[in-house]
Amino acid sequence: MADGVASYGLVEDAAIAVSSGRIQWIGPHRDLPPDHADWPIIDFADRLITPGLIDPHTHAIFGGNRAVEFEMRLNGATYEEIARAGGGILSTVTATRAASMQDLIQEALPRIDALLAEGVTCIELKSGYGLDQDTELRMLRAAREIAKQRPVRVQTSFLGAHAVPPEFTGRADAYIDTVCIPTLRAAHAEGLVDAVDGFCEGIAFDTTQIARVFDAARDLGLPVKLHAEQLSNLGGARLAASYGALSADHVEYVDAAGVAAMTEAGTTAVLLPGAFYTLRETQVPPIDLFRKAGVPMALATDCNPGSSPLTSLLLAMNMGCTLFGMTPAEALAGVTRNAARALGLADAGSIAPGQRADLAVWDVSHPAELVYRIGFNPLHARIFGGEV
Ligand SMILES: [Zn+2]
Repeated sequence: MADGVASYGLVEDAAIAVSSGRIQWIGPHRDLPPDHADWPIIDFADRLITPGLIDPHTHAIFGGNRAVEFEMRLNGATYEEIARAGGGILSTVTATRAASMQDLIQEALPRIDALLAEGVTCIELKSGYGLDQDTELRMLRAAREIAKQRPVRVQTSFLGAHAVPPEFTGRADAYIDTVCIPTLRAAHAEGLVDAVDGFCEGIAFDTTQIARVFDAARDLGLPVKLHAEQLSNLGGARLAASYGALSADHVEYVDAAGVAAMTEAGTTAVLLPGAFYTLRETQVPPIDLFRKAGVPMALATDCNPGSSPLTSLLLAMNMGCTLFGMTPAEALAGVTRNAARALGLADAGSIAPGQRADLAVWDVSHPAELVYRIGFNPLHARIFGGEV
């Protein structure tokens, strides 16, 4: 890694030929094939062009916000006091259930727009704040609608197994079997689900409950991913890998056996430094273990109203380096190539013939500049499907 520049795979003085929304050719400008030579040209001068950024883990669709709870906590309220005042994830569930699809879209769009303004061309959007059939379907329909209203590619994840809703307190198994799995089937029948997610944690669901959801996903031919090993090690990453999961996310507490299972299955580690920061966690994900084992690392905002109210993927990249010790080249791969992997997308995340022409053009001279600044957005242009 001594040669930081080489690890980005930079092409100097590059030309990229685009038609029909796809990349046809990339290479040094002087080598541009003659049959492309008379195509219309957009000259981006000496700027850096990267693949459009991909945010592979967000909960950007939700009702309400939790600013008051944030304030209560900093004024000394305990989690119990906040919960008794109706705070926590349940306050988001209540607000989301009360919101119409239009409300959900209108509230999500400013968050989406903040991401797009930083060169994001693809985002993942999860359900998981409805925890009943109507609201889960409404969240996923809102996600599909957002893809029509903005120039962005949206990948949806069904996250019915996010939390136990209040009407099922103490009956998590009943919730999984009578609400979560039937809702997954209904959402899939409506074409609303690209992947199936879950939250495997002491405060959510255990591995046997998640396995039932994943069995249902497998029956439907849907890929899976999992919030795993965020606060403790329950073996979620190993479970996810045993289903060939696209990704295991958070993974601060994953152990060597979990990492080995992820390597074997080709499961990407999606790292979420925004939640680590907000919750003031101290357990850093095992970056070196992932490196040595060849586990691809992605980065995401985890945009959500509670543990990561973050709408800057550039800041997530900075945090990945500053808090977790990733290199800038790893951070950039984490929001391009490896983020595409985490979503199961073969035609995004790199600049190569046949890839979608989703690109970001930056006013920087070195890629590390994207990562090292805090709160600065050097985007010059964003190209989606070949359109500037
Ligand atoms: Zn999450």
